[in-house]
Amino acid sequence: GIVLRLQGVRVAYGNRMALDGVDLSVRRGERVALVGPSGAGKSTLLGLGNGTVVPTRGRVDVLGVEPRAVSPGALRKLRARIGSVHQQLHLVGPLPVVHNVNAGRLGAWGRLRALRSLLRPLQLDEARTALERVGIGPDLQMRTDRLSGGEQQRVALARLLVQDPELVLADEPVASLDPARAEDVMRLLCGLLEQPTGHRRTLVVSLHDFDLAVRHCDRVVALRQGRVVLDVPVEEVDEAT
Ligand code: ADP
Ligand code: ADP
Repeated sequence: GIVLRLQGVRVAYGNRMALDGVDLSVRRGERVALVGPSGAGKSTLLGLGNGTVVPTRGRVDVLGVEPRAVSPGALRKLRARIGSVHQQLHLVGPLPVVHNVNAGRLGAWGRLRALRSLLRPLQLDEARTALERVGIGPDLQMRTDRLSGGEQQRVALARLLVQDPELVLADEPVASLDPARAEDVMRLLCGLLEQPTGHRRTLVVSLHDFDLAVRHCDRVVALRQGRVVLDVPVEEVDEAT
């Protein structure tokens, strides 16, 4: 099925077009890389996916729901099915690791989630399993900000795993990392897309590095000045560029 569909979408900020005439369908299980220069509209497109950006014209469907047409409650439910990854990890440093990981269960409201998780029973086993899957086994009660940057990145990915989203929207998740770390995080992120059921979560990720896109994704969508200028399976990228 189709997880994300944009039909004739325009997003205007005043008279500046962030997106114009965009048609895009993302199928379940696909890994789609969004590439293009800064200002091309990548963040705006990802914002349409989680309902934080509303189209000026055209139609957006996400997981079978039209975000702007539903109630706030339904929008919250939709967002719980969508995982967001940003350059900033949105971890709460002073809190123990377990609270940051368990915050995934509470849906997508940034650092508030971690604080709210203080009021919930601790899911120690679940947190431990998620951390093992991302390759670390820290003391669950340790302050999160005592971990290294790389370990904190893994804690954020463990939080994503605990959320168990159907669709992952990642906005420049590796932009600030050196190439080796970026490769590492992309490999981990893509690994987390594989579900025990054999199904794969869907990923839409904006990336600066074209090679990273080709190595880790199935399909590359290039944006330029708010328009899709290339939309090809990675196997065809060499021929297209
Ligand atoms: P990218 O993620 O590819 O860098 P963006 O989606 O952030 O691109 O931005 C697309 C265009 O929309 C840019 O010209 C940007 O300046 C503009 N834009 C984005 N967000 C806003 C906003 N909140 N208000 C006004 N202009 C915006
Ligand atoms: P999540 O909580 O899963 O990171 P959200 O989309 O709910 O995802 O955003 C959480 C917080 O991050 C909000 O406060 C929001 O304003 C902020 N945010 C949203 N989009 C971005 C972005 N592209 N980069 C940085 N922060 C963002």
